[in-house]
Amino acid sequence: MSDVPKIQLNDGVEIPQMGFGTFQIEQAVARDVTLSAIEVGYRHLDTAQMYGNERGVGAAVRESGVDRAEFFVTSKLNNSFHDHDDALEAFRRTVADLDVGYLDLFLIHWPLPNVGDYVETWKAMIEIAQSDECRSIGVSNFQRPHLERLFSETDVVPSINQIEVHPYFSQNDLRSFCADHGIAVEAWSPIAQGRVLSDQELMSVGEECGKSSAQVALRWHIQRGDIVFPKSAHPGRMAQNLDIFDFELTSDQMARVESLDRGQRIGPDPDDFNWVP
Ligand code: NDP
Repeated sequence: MSDVPKIQLNDGVEIPQMGFGTFQIEQAVARDVTLSAIEVGYRHLDTAQMYGNERGVGAAVRESGVDRAEFFVTSKLNNSFHDHDDALEAFRRTVADLDVGYLDLFLIHWPLPNVGDYVETWKAMIEIAQSDECRSIGVSNFQRPHLERLFSETDVVPSINQIEVHPYFSQNDLRSFCADHGIAVEAWSPIAQGRVLSDQELMSVGEECGKSSAQVALRWHIQRGDIVFPKSAHPGRMAQNLDIFDFELTSDQMARVESLDRGQRIGPDPDDFNWVP
């Protein structure tokens, strides 16, 4: 990860711009897959209570032989724990399940605008941030009106908003709103779970650069300033995804990727998503 740039968050915490995503990595294999990612060079790991793999991810960190301080570990509050006391208890459970001492970042996974009140959940997150076990707090899948309520009803601006962003869904309005308010953007599903990889334009830019379409998409995110953590269960692809710091897209190539935006989500619309497990 020595080539991976760091971004300073609004609370002073530094986050590596590139990490490893663990969605859809089952608990049974999470330790081994995460150990492979660490061996390949990843030091920033993104998990969530919802993924059910925190114990495996944490075991990999502990067993890797790498100093804990070199890692950046993120988890997210599950949708069933939005009430104040439930949030505090769920955070304690995550600390215990990961068992890596502390979290670098804890996020509200979804706003669930029609379930409970995410402002109350955010107030619990602010308490969590005061403990020694959490360095930074943020949100995920928050739309502009959700962020505006946090601004007007609390004193703490999230350090991060983790949202769906990829070449088919570039989210430029929400990204610039976040930038205007000092919130760093993390782009989830940065290669749209593989759906952009056979795109002709990405492949043609890739040919020009001697890189794969996945690498072109990931490099585009990096040059736009977003934080990414592609997921792969295969060490070869893990290594390929990390190998994007030895080339640069020209402004013309950036524009060609930008032109692919179709406003096309692959995940749920946060305004309508109110799923509680
Ligand atoms: P990604 O966009 O990272 O794509 C992952 C898929 O692409 C997998 O099927 C993987 O297959 C394949 N893949 C990865 N690299 C390559 C490559 N170089 N060549 C070909 N195929 C490749 O999807 P994710 O949804 O996993 O998003 C990344 C992370 O974002 C998640 O793991 C999670 O941490 C986070 N996330 C957060 C959400 C939120 O609501 N906050 C929602 C969704 C994701 P294989 O494993 O077989 O290699």
